[in-house]
This record gives sequence, C-alpha cells and structure tokens, in this order.
Amino acid sequence: MSSVIAFGIWSIQLIIVEIYLSRLLGITLYDQDIRVLFAVVSIVYFVCYFVLLYKLFLPKQKKQKKDLIQDYIKKEISIAGKVKEQEVVLDVHDLTTRFYTEEGTVYAVDGVSFKVYKGEVLGFVGETGCGKSVTALSILQLIQPPGKIINGNVNFLKEDLLKKSSKEILSYRGNKITMIFQDPVNSLNPVFTVGKQISEVLLLHKEEELMFEASKEESKGLYDVLRKRTLQIIRDMNIPSPENIIDRYPHELSGGMRQRIQIAMAIACSPILLVADEPTTALDVTVQNQILKLMKDLQKDYNTSIIFITHDLSVISKMCDRVAVMYCGSIVEYGEIKTIFKKTYHPYTKGLLSAVPTEGKKDGLKAIAGMIPNPIYPPSGCKFHPRCEYCFEPCESTNPKSIEVEPNYFVSCHLYDPEFNNKQKGLNEKKG
Ligand code: SF4
Repeated sequence: MSSVIAFGIWSIQLIIVEIYLSRLLGITLYDQDIRVLFAVVSIVYFVCYFVLLYKLFLPKQKKQKKDLIQDYIKKEISIAGKVKEQEVVLDVHDLTTRFYTEEGTVYAVDGVSFKVYKGEVLGFVGETGCGKSVTALSILQLIQPPGKIINGNVNFLKEDLLKKSSKEILSYRGNKITMIFQDPVNSLNPVFTVGKQISEVLLLHKEEELMFEASKEESKGLYDVLRKRTLQIIRDMNIPSPENIIDRYPHELSGGMRQRIQIAMAIACSPILLVADEPTTALDVTVQNQILKLMKDLQKDYNTSIIFITHDLSVISKMCDRVAVMYCGSIVEYGEIKTIFKKTYHPYTKGLLSAVPTEGKKDGLKAIAGMIPNPIYPPSGCKFHPRCEYCFEPCESTNPKSIEVEPNYFVSCHLYDPEFNNKQKGLNEKKG
C-alpha cells in the first residue's frame, strides 16, 4: 500500500519538476504535451491503487464471511454436545427474589430450587401471587426495580445466568431461552406485521445461519432466505395460508392466532428452554386445547425443554412430565406428575386437587380454607400453617425442610420429617 502511495507522490513530483524545468530553465525532459504524461501517470497510479485495495480488503471480507460460517458451525456443534452430555438443562438453586415497596418487603420467591431436564416439561402450579411468574422472570433476569434477586444460582448449561451482565444475557434471551406471555396483545408490536416480528428474532440471533443458507443458494439473498424461513415457522404453527398471514398486523388476527404467532417467535431460534407463563389462560377452551397440542408437538419436534406455568391442574396433567407446586414463594411439592395425582403428599396439594371438578366426584368441590397470606407479612414456620388442617406443634415455628419421600420426589412438610414423627403420633392419639 505504502509503495503505491510513494509511487503516486513520486509521479506527481516528476511532473512538477518537468513543468519547472521546461517553463523556468527551458530544459525539456519530455518533449510531448505535458497533459499526456500527466494523464498516463494518473491512470497507472489509480489502476495500481484500486488493484491493491481489492487485494488487501476483498479477500479479508471473504475470509471474514467464511470464518463467521465456520465459527457458527463450531458454536452449534459445541452447544449440541453440551446439551447431549448434560441431561440437566437448567439447575436453579436457592433463588430468592424480593420487592422493596413502600408498604414493605414483598417475599416473592423464597429459596426456590429445581432442575429442568433435557426435553421435559416441568409445570409450575399454584394460586395467583405464589411466585410462579416471578421465578420465571428471575431466570431471565427480567426483574425490574423495586424488585431484586438477592440470592441463588441459575445454572443454564452449567453457566450461572445471574452472573451475566445485562449485555451478555441478551444472547440468551429470545435465542437459547425464550418466553411466552399470557397476553399476546401486549407482547406483539402493533405497528409491525407479524412476519417482520418473527424475522427480526431470526435476524438478531440467527444471521450467521441464514447467511450460510444464502451462500448455498447463489440466486437467493439473505432476505429471500429469511422470508422463506419465516413462512415455514408460521406453517409449523398450523396456521392456514401463511403467505397471507405473514404480512398482517396483530390486530387483524384472532386471539388464538396471535398466541400462535407469539409461540412462533419463541421457537423461531429452536430454543433449548422455553418458559411459558400461562400461555392459554386468556383463550377459550377449544383454542386452549389446540395451543396445548401445538406446544406438545413442537416440544417433541424441537426437543425443547419447557417450564409451563399455570394455575390449572388439568392443564398440568395434559402437558407436564414433572410438576412443582408453589405456595407463598416456596416449592412445597416437586416431582413426577404421576405421583402427584396418584399419591398426593402435601396438604396444600391435596387442597388444590380437591378443588378440581372431576368425573364421579360425589362429595362436591372443597375449597382450601382461609386466604392466601400477604407476601409482605408471610406466616412464621410453615407458611401454610394458618390454613392447614394437619397443623401440629412444629408447624408454627419451624420452616419445613425439603424431604425426599420417594426417589426424586420432594415434599416440604413436617408430616414426612422423621424428626417430628413422635409429635405427630401424639397428635393422632389425642385426636383418636
Ligand atoms: S408443615 Fe405442618 S402446617 Fe405445613 S403443611 Fe405440613 S402439616 Fe401443614
């Protein structure tokens, strides 16, 4: 590069010297028209300059593109390898989130621990305000002030998400971990077409993959590949005539259709973990069943792990492999879905199940006595004790431990704690 510039400077100097010699001293080095010399030198100079530019920068650009694609392939292989060797996708330990309001501290999530395995659906169930959604938001670092995550670890593929900076967490959100919210009206942008909104997710997180695809088909550009991929995702949502839907705005679609678009955005990048926060609550029963079936099919096709949050136990029974029952910011029962319906352990879970209408239930529905406690002033000891019909001596003062009552099945209740067996026997004798 420097030699070309030097050549250019030298040529200009030569022309200036020639002009001086001929005009001032009458010596002619070059007896033709000086403009011809000037033009020839300029052309040679510019040709050399552009050839050099081409050689210096274009191969670099090509190399960069090639490197990008190679990096992308390496990255995908390493992620696939990681997921394969570790069955646990998400390991949450002792997660504690609080909200510091004017009325006092809200104990929203209080030492929650659970694991999500590869390809499974883990359900979170409990009454409104028990901390299900705050747990989900904490996983993705979406807690805003006055809320704060004050303790715990959220290990996603062995990396603690709580230690990531707000910039680093962006590469996880919408890509490896995605979230579906209850109300698609508020989640979708009303001023962009649904196709544009799905494409944006793809462009943000999968640009290298799309470039790789575009490079395989010479005649197609990045945006052709992007539109084709968006159409395919809409088609996967069982939406009829996707070519027609792709250019529509959210307000032109029905509630069920909007929820499908939200799911499309969530699975566009084939996430490893999908967090669905009451995705069917705002829909009528027929559409609800269609959405549940769609999510189950997609979970199998994409092998995505799902955290499914709901207050509806019947939805849990249809969707989940394992379940975590939450009460007042804590998990009280956690394990296989079959066990919870066959042999319920925790008094709160028993109460929830007896409030569900089922076929052949003769003694009617039984609501859980009392009210949900105010999370600013949670009860001492076991938080369920003011409403529990089995409450005995340690319940009011001692916080129950999580006890493994069956392999991989945990219950937080003193009834199953060997330490309090004698007191419980005494209580039963008194009752008898
Ligand atoms: S610990 Fe006591 S109060 Fe709490 S659920 Fe068990 S029996 Fe009821």
